[in-house]
Amino acid sequence: MATTTLKPEIEMSDKKPASTKYVYFFGGGKADGNGKMKDELGGKGAGLAEMTNAGLPVPPGFTIQTEACREYMRTNGVSSDVDRQMEEALARLEQLQGQKLGKGENPLLVSVRSGAKFSMPGMMDTILNLGLNDQSVEALAKRSNNPRFAYDSYRRLIQMFGSVVLEISKAAFEEVFDAKKEQKRAKLDTDLDAKALKEVIAEYKKVVKKKTKRDFPQDPHDQLVMARDAVFRSWNNERAKHYRRINNISDDLGTAVNVQAMVYGNLGETSGTGVGFTRNPATGTKEFYGEFLMNAQGEDVVAGIRTPVHILELEKIMPSVYNQLREITTRLERHYRDMQDFEFTIQDGKLYMLQTRNGKRTGLAAVRVAIQMVEEGLITKEEAIFRVEPNQLYDFLVPRLDEKDIRPADVLTSKGLPASPGAAVGQIVFTADDAVRRAGHETTKSPVILVRSETTPEDIHGMEVAKGILTSRGGMTSHAAVVTRGMGKCCVAGAGEIEVDEKAREMRVKGQVFKEGDWISVDGTTGRVIKGKKNTIDPKPDDPELLKLMSWAEPFRKLRVRANADIPRDAIQARAFGAEGIGLCRTEHMFFAEKRLPHMRAMIMAHDEKERRAALKKLLPMQRSDFIGVFKAMNGFPVTIRTLDPPLHEFLPRREDLMVEIAVLEAMKPKSPKLKRLKTLLRRVEELHELNPMLGHRGCRLGITYPEITEMQARAIFEAAVAVAKDGIKVYPEVMIPLTATVKEMANQAAIVRRVADEVFKEKDAKVDYLVGTMIELPRAALVADEIAKESEFFSFGTNDLTQTTFGFSRDDVNKILPTYIAEGILKHDPFAVLDREGVGQLVRMATERGRSTRSDLKVGICGEHGGEPSSVEFCHQIGLNYVSCSPFRVLTARLAAAQAAASDKLKVEGGRTK
Ligand code: PEP
Ligand code: MG
Repeated sequence: MATTTLKPEIEMSDKKPASTKYVYFFGGGKADGNGKMKDELGGKGAGLAEMTNAGLPVPPGFTIQTEACREYMRTNGVSSDVDRQMEEALARLEQLQGQKLGKGENPLLVSVRSGAKFSMPGMMDTILNLGLNDQSVEALAKRSNNPRFAYDSYRRLIQMFGSVVLEISKAAFEEVFDAKKEQKRAKLDTDLDAKALKEVIAEYKKVVKKKTKRDFPQDPHDQLVMARDAVFRSWNNERAKHYRRINNISDDLGTAVNVQAMVYGNLGETSGTGVGFTRNPATGTKEFYGEFLMNAQGEDVVAGIRTPVHILELEKIMPSVYNQLREITTRLERHYRDMQDFEFTIQDGKLYMLQTRNGKRTGLAAVRVAIQMVEEGLITKEEAIFRVEPNQLYDFLVPRLDEKDIRPADVLTSKGLPASPGAAVGQIVFTADDAVRRAGHETTKSPVILVRSETTPEDIHGMEVAKGILTSRGGMTSHAAVVTRGMGKCCVAGAGEIEVDEKAREMRVKGQVFKEGDWISVDGTTGRVIKGKKNTIDPKPDDPELLKLMSWAEPFRKLRVRANADIPRDAIQARAFGAEGIGLCRTEHMFFAEKRLPHMRAMIMAHDEKERRAALKKLLPMQRSDFIGVFKAMNGFPVTIRTLDPPLHEFLPRREDLMVEIAVLEAMKPKSPKLKRLKTLLRRVEELHELNPMLGHRGCRLGITYPEITEMQARAIFEAAVAVAKDGIKVYPEVMIPLTATVKEMANQAAIVRRVADEVFKEKDAKVDYLVGTMIELPRAALVADEIAKESEFFSFGTNDLTQTTFGFSRDDVNKILPTYIAEGILKHDPFAVLDREGVGQLVRMATERGRSTRSDLKVGICGEHGGEPSSVEFCHQIGLNYVSCSPFRVLTARLAAAQAAASDKLKVEGGRTK
């Protein structure tokens, strides 16, 4: 290479092709970019280009593309090309508008907004009114003939610029503002007049000087460069990173920056601003849906600071603007062939479209809108399949409140907004941190309802753990509403009758006071808030529209979808959701019930075979009757039953608890017979104690060391199978041996199962077809899968254990490490939730190939948690598995994910699902 002698940084800038186009102009009816360029321009930038090209009234401006952000992240700055192209675009904008940025009698003012490929509502930063300074604010005051508006815009700029660009805490500005309101006895922000706002500006400037040791920048070009870079940096703020993690968005994409001429919705009573949807985002109903505020700026609507007015009211106030808006948004929907979420501003009676994008919606709405659009001829049935995210189907499974349980007097309000459907019952918390603290972790979860006057992106961690969200302010497009809909979580927003006092940690309504820890029930489908812990009803997944969409998707599906179900009740539920068999029946779970546990414990704690056989004899009829129930529920479908695989610690009393109990008894009642019993118990628990039970005496190791356990289970399975077969039930048992690592383990256990099957068939003079197979849960098993397949008639990947043993992460303790790993980008996802295709997935693929090289008709499935996670299901489809198996509530999701994976092969739909 000719440049080897150059310094690295010069080498880097040298290598960049001179022709990179960083800045894309839009305005005057034409745009450099277009709607397809989301990778470069982000969703917002692509939308602005597309709308401009379509001749819509869009304020002109330019988009700095995502490559500049990636460059900023790599090098902590931008190349001179970015600066140069930005100045050129600004000059073009100034010429088009006949204005100069922050100069002259009619100064150009701009907004600087983030906009990534995938929508990340409110997660990154935005700066409005840029270009205002001590001179231009006076010009604006004169031009608008509204000094109050001009000073208000300037103080907003200093505040936003101060917090976003200069990283001064918001509280520093809020203190000044609140103090001024108090001093002037102003109730609302709008009660402060021009003079008061001028004083606020002077104070704000002092805050800036004090905190940064510099004056607030007066040069509009400096403001622009600083704001642009701050928006780039905001890609990596904690909120944005967190949002990307939950929404599975790559950290590498970067954001574009949109610089656009400002239009003002707060110029007086003929100005206003609003947001809307072309269809109802909660229900999918075809209706013009949205809200607006006159004499306000966009943030007032989105942040939910003032409760907005329904969009239909605009027709009364400004009929021609209303009609134009309807005409434009209808056109937009036809153009994009999807429901649109749009923002508009009216400045002095003239309508401007600020943004349009495919609207976020609930699962209910997604299905309904997809079907309507097929009926309207806007999209094909095949396209409709991809309009619903598989995880959104949970909405059809969300609980409802049991109306019988609700007394009118318990209804605290019924006037909240039904922001996100479903019902949630939980204990009140008032801050996101309290939500996290109280909601706890997997084992100690207690349901919480996060109650806020309004939520902000800073609350995201609390919203994630809460069962439901209740806000007293804000509309259907407020932060709380948008984010919960994305999460599929119940939310009542804008419940104005409720007064939320976060400081006092109190909620007051109808003369009653509710404190942290009090129970409430919220109904996001109707907007009600109800006192107390109400019952909920399980929903029915037989919505006709859901069934219709599934009927379009299902013919594509290649993968079978089974359920993990341990007891007859779950098996029945699984069938209702469309499960095509059981992929995993964890037989040890049949013994968690209070009455059964002692027998299971007795079996585990037995000192010798005799004692064990005695305990097993008690367990046999219980298992047999459960198997009968499961076989009946799955009439005609296969049922995979796993022989016992208990990490023993799950069934034994805790050693430490026993020790405490013994110590207490020794001190208080040293003669009690219970003490003697407990001491014997402790001795046995200590004998059985394992340092690492997950790698201990479990899986097939148990059946090999105690063959009588496998014998009893095989007997229960075949006696049940023969019994139901005699009643005309079609039964296909598949006996599965867990945690094998060698073919000899498999041979050992398969021989027992086959021997017992023959015995039962002879005794009962009847026969059923059955298979004996194994779980692949250990890397060694995957490596020798060709050998194991000689003895195994099917494989089922236990990807929970396979992930545990491949990474060497304890599945019970990984949460200590995982948050850091994800925050540091060492892992992109929790590998226990989303299958690690690179490592664990490689083992799955390899073992499948090796297994099938021995036995070409080897049936292969997966039954770890990944079996219901859309991306993992897609992978299972791609590598040619026969089925996935997941918990009953994920069956619908898995079915759609499997159908989408197959349909995208066939239809060559790029990327399959959309964000
Ligand atoms: C697995 O390991 O993936 C599995 C399904 O078994 P369990 O979770 O019961 O260990
Ligand atoms: Mg396992």
